[in-house]
Amino acid sequence: MGWGQAGLHGSGLPPRPMPTPPQAAPGRRLLGVVEQLSQRPETRPQSPAEADRVALRALLKTETEPVARALFEYAQKEAPTEAGRYAETLGCAGVLIGDACTTYCRRRWCLVCARNEVGRLLSAYGGSVSRLVDPQLVTLTVPRCTGAELPGVLDEILAVWKSTSRAVRRTDGFDLTGIRKLECVAAPGEYGPHVHAILDGAEAAGRVVERWNEAAPCGAEPEGQDVRPIAPQTARHALAYVSKAPVPILDAAGDPVAPQALHTAFSALHSRRVVQAFGMRSDAAERHAGAHTGKRGGAACFWDTEAGGWVNPFTGEITAGAA
Ligand SMILES: [Zn+2]
Repeated sequence: MGWGQAGLHGSGLPPRPMPTPPQAAPGRRLLGVVEQLSQRPETRPQSPAEADRVALRALLKTETEPVARALFEYAQKEAPTEAGRYAETLGCAGVLIGDACTTYCRRRWCLVCARNEVGRLLSAYGGSVSRLVDPQLVTLTVPRCTGAELPGVLDEILAVWKSTSRAVRRTDGFDLTGIRKLECVAAPGEYGPHVHAILDGAEAAGRVVERWNEAAPCGAEPEGQDVRPIAPQTARHALAYVSKAPVPILDAAGDPVAPQALHTAFSALHSRRVVQAFGMRSDAAERHAGAHTGKRGGAACFWDTEAGGWVNPFTGEITAGAA
């Protein structure tokens, strides 16, 4: 009997005790993992904070799975050499121990890993951003483009950002401090790449926008650009906002974006630097604030798509299950 089959969940009945590890189906490698990680079947009670964190991760994994599966199936047909990247996401956070998962795919389309990235950036730069004297949220856009145009448009955006920020620093004499993020909204046949930046100082931020308009990358229009002050006490929220996944995988209605559009956008962003901080030191670049700080303990529980949570193979208990 494999994981997540009848008896573990979904029947509406109480979980069925399973005193010994179940036998994995032929060809499944999960039993070996159980033997290595779950010699002790006891579970460790979760604190409310841990439970919230695990519940959120379950929600994000549930939202990511159909998108990753659609991307995988699309790539198998259209870009077979890239299908493996999407398959990694299907296995992301597959094993939960305590409130931590053993593996993360770290792919940009994975909402579980995107949240970890938000935590990492908050841990690294949250303190610096909070100390900015006059934080501004700058949005720089270009007109929408086709998928075929997207790589060239991204090249131009990054080149103009580089020349703009250099000119503001060297020619205009501002100490440019902040963090920038490259993003792209994707829909079939239409892509909206743009930059969000948190910058210190209204004058410096305004100068960046002016120079962006002078360069007019890809025919950018002044009305497409925006700069607005951020209350210093909410600067961390702004950082979390700009730290989100670089391409939204769900549309405004919460439905998955078409896989060919997502694949085009993520492929165009591949190997490009999405986040760049400047003039700020990382407080703790390697310290992950999110799931990676969880204590490890208790039994290994295995992700079950149908349950929307991680199933304890010994007790049948579902952690963070929607049911
Ligand atoms: Zn992931």
